[in-house]
Amino acid sequence: MAYKTDIEIAREAKKKPIQEIGARLGIPETELLPFGHDKAKVSAEFIAAQKDRPDGKLILVTAINPTPAGEGKTTTTVGLGDGLNAIGKNAAICIREASLGPCFGMKGGAAGGGLAQVVPMEDMNLHFTGDFHAITSAHNLLSAMIDNHIYWGNELGIDQRRIVWRRVMDMNDRALREIVTSLGGVANGFPGQGGFDITVASEVMAILCLATDIRDLQERLGRIIVAYTREREPVSARDLKADGAMTVLLAQAMQPNLVQTLENNPAFVHGGPFANIAHGCNSVIATKTALKLADYVVTEAGFGADLGAEKFMDIKCRMADLAPDAVVIVATVRAMKMNGGVKKEDLGAENVAAVHKGCENLGRHIANIRSFGVPAVVAINHFVTDTEAEIDEVMAYVDRQGSEAIVCRHWAEGSAGIADLSRRVAQLADSGMAQFAPLYPDEMSLFHKIETIAKRIYRADEVLADKRIRDQLHAWENAGYGHLPVCMAKTQYSFSTDPNLRGAPTGHSVPVREVRLSAGAGFVVVICGEIMTMPGLPRVPSAEQIRFNDAGQIEGLF
Ligand code: ADP
Ligand code: MG
Repeated sequence: MAYKTDIEIAREAKKKPIQEIGARLGIPETELLPFGHDKAKVSAEFIAAQKDRPDGKLILVTAINPTPAGEGKTTTTVGLGDGLNAIGKNAAICIREASLGPCFGMKGGAAGGGLAQVVPMEDMNLHFTGDFHAITSAHNLLSAMIDNHIYWGNELGIDQRRIVWRRVMDMNDRALREIVTSLGGVANGFPGQGGFDITVASEVMAILCLATDIRDLQERLGRIIVAYTREREPVSARDLKADGAMTVLLAQAMQPNLVQTLENNPAFVHGGPFANIAHGCNSVIATKTALKLADYVVTEAGFGADLGAEKFMDIKCRMADLAPDAVVIVATVRAMKMNGGVKKEDLGAENVAAVHKGCENLGRHIANIRSFGVPAVVAINHFVTDTEAEIDEVMAYVDRQGSEAIVCRHWAEGSAGIADLSRRVAQLADSGMAQFAPLYPDEMSLFHKIETIAKRIYRADEVLADKRIRDQLHAWENAGYGHLPVCMAKTQYSFSTDPNLRGAPTGHSVPVREVRLSAGAGFVVVICGEIMTMPGLPRVPSAEQIRFNDAGQIEGLF
């Protein structure tokens, strides 16, 4: 049987007017700011007026360490939202917006897949409601104001060699990673070194996603450290008087976007921070709004649970005072095989032994989630290539861990394929079993926080950091940043910092290469290994396949 592509399925969606979707959540038409017929922002005034309503149940979808294609977290988030609605619950989903970089590169879009998608898929994967444009503009306004400040006399005494604020754009473009700016003479300023990151790596993106309202947004933007003086004193966006204008540029983008799933259920799609140098979750404002309006809110965290779930719990939930009621760990037979040592090109063939071996990766994620005090269930995201013996192997393994796994066919069947998981998740969320606690307290020293994550989540023996890094952490503690959570940036493919070390490694060390302070977002980024903040395009980028067909429809987005 030939399957339709994601975009073919999305094109056939029977979309309802966005006002009808809003009405399902009790949002009056006057409080929706429509972008066309199928997208709308929810007004800040309406959101503020909901603050005393009770919250629904919060369900996190996370995953094992993935294979390079992604294992279906978004697809499962969308499927579970539809599944909960199909069994009569009032549920909404919250996911991230897509970046153009991966869209034209190789990973494809971010709207889910198969019969579990969010629509309009083309818009979501392209310009959508312009939020990323706004973030790019706010970020680059600050960049321009730094250079301009220096040009007009540098009253703040910025050391041009110690500017830590780069430029951003929403495209994979390796040529812009390291550049020289201000060539061409006196009128163009002082030549200097600069570079671009992709917009999703901007601290402004992380800030927009963590801010609780417009006032908090401006506070956080003002705290961004852009440079240091010769005396190593930090210079902030507020010192440059940039925070007000940046906030003005971002005000509309701060309001969450409402769209719908293929089954016409509400979906908030808002914000999209990187999951390595940032926390990788959709916006706090979207999640909090959804919790006020729906009884169940299903949301996703980027990468595997070692990064995504840990940051969701220790950064997003801690800062926003959220507490998950249940966690779904997505596993695929493919990823089990890969964790069991099978190469990417051999994933199609049955290999029960490799599945068995790879299951130890899943086992560790289950144990880790338990350590946050939240009940978890494993969702086996079924691929048509999975064999019964392979699935049985996963089921039996999870059973032996004293946990439970449920096979889900939402990709092929929509909500009908995920009814069992939906019922179980609703039951777990309603049970009141969750006793959520973050992994470490605010008061713990920064280095000890890193060690706690490395030892308890990655099961490493030690954290390696030279004196320069430890001194830097101490300096930040002395400057009043010691209470911040840490944001780990490492490979998503392994519990360790070596992407090739699959399964459930122990005894490894976690070397810290660099630490960065995101004072506005409110975390200390801990970089372990090579982290790319401006990706490049692959040899054959998907851009080569994206075009209009003869019928005037977009082809090649996936
Ligand atoms: P993640 O959020 O974990 O990165 P996605 O949900 O975006 O993963 O899925 C990645 C890709 O895999 C998408 O193109 C999606 O269509 C595809 N996919 C997901 N689940 C399945 C499945 N069960 N069978 C086939 N393809 C799938
Ligand atoms: Mg995803």
